Amino acid sequence: MPGWDLLLTDVHLATMAEGAAAYGIVEDGAIAISSGNIAWLGAQSELPAAESRETRSLEGRWLTPALIDCHTHLVFAGNRAAEFEQRLRGDSYQDIARAGGGIMSTVNATRAASDDELRSAATARLDSLTREGVATVEIKSGYGLNVETELRMLEVVRALAASSGLSIRSTFLGAHAIPGEYKGKSGEYIDLVCDQMLPAAHEAQLADAVDAYCESIAFSTDEVARVFETAKSLGIPVKLHADQLTDGGGAALAASFGALSADHLEFTSNEGVTALAEAGSAAVLLPGAFLTLGETQLPPIDALRDSAVRIAIATDCNPGTSPICSLRAVMNLASSLFHLTPEECLAGVTRNAAHALGLEHDRGTLEVGKRADIAAWDIGHPRELSYWMGLNQLSELLIAGLAAGRPSGA
Ligand SMILES: [Zn+2]
Repeated sequence: MPGWDLLLTDVHLATMAEGAAAYGIVEDGAIAISSGNIAWLGAQSELPAAESRETRSLEGRWLTPALIDCHTHLVFAGNRAAEFEQRLRGDSYQDIARAGGGIMSTVNATRAASDDELRSAATARLDSLTREGVATVEIKSGYGLNVETELRMLEVVRALAASSGLSIRSTFLGAHAIPGEYKGKSGEYIDLVCDQMLPAAHEAQLADAVDAYCESIAFSTDEVARVFETAKSLGIPVKLHADQLTDGGGAALAASFGALSADHLEFTSNEGVTALAEAGSAAVLLPGAFLTLGETQLPPIDALRDSAVRIAIATDCNPGTSPICSLRAVMNLASSLFHLTPEECLAGVTRNAAHALGLEHDRGTLEVGKRADIAAWDIGHPRELSYWMGLNQLSELLIAGLAAGRPSGA
């Protein structure tokens, strides 16, 4: 007789398994966990005879894969609330930049902050995500923009992984913006990224992936290609901030390097979508930044659907363009702004978000053999996860089969 560590009974499952009909729903189900992985799941009436060290009834709650936030910048110091207020009072971007605002204000604050300050500010944001069922988070560097602070940011990300119990993927984003000291010399800055920053991050095993910001106001496709060539030579997968404000060919560039994902994509052309489909790269949509910037150009949702590109969604948590620490809120925004269905939104923060991080082999769906990263919800149907905003229905979160948080008792 098989032996399990934990058996959860009286549950409804939304497995989100690939190819399954409507959310992969199994009503009146049960799920068994052994050594941190899912050992069995199905209709409770078909539960095989087995011994379990612990058995619990969840009294009709719904289980989904734990959520995955696959694009964040949540390690930074300070915030830009004053700038937000200035803008709403009518100051121009130029006024704000002259007064020291914009991304460089976050870079300066991050360079000046201690590791402890960075860690504790980021922990509060991570806690907010976890309270809503997020078990896996990607965090980028990109507010250091010098060798020392970029490495320090990535070390803080690793420290957060150790202290939080969450699964945290670390992405090197040295090519996020051109720092003030390299103004007008972006090529020299890319030299620094390729010759020093990225090799040092790799040497210290701090980068699970490499990202860059390909945009008219940031780095050109040629500059990004140099960063990606370096990443490729070091064997690190890539992803890209692409086509957010203009169609700069970013999606096609990302696809040509077999990127895990291309992110934003508001201005991506049909050719870019086709390239993503052929490369198997995920499309990560970021409705929080779309909302904050008051954008009107929608990402090419129909073309992405028609080409069967995997669509993920993420908070893009950052102090300038997406000060959002709620993946549930972003699911709602993806429906209301981008017209994704609630099922597409849930796939976007589970199965497809796992793809965007290269983790689809062990999470993102409820299936035998995958990690028991499971969120339990007080809901009547999984469509509610995209419908409500600000109502936290998480009952409990398991990460690799262990309790990670019970918000009601916290
Ligand atoms: Zn971003």
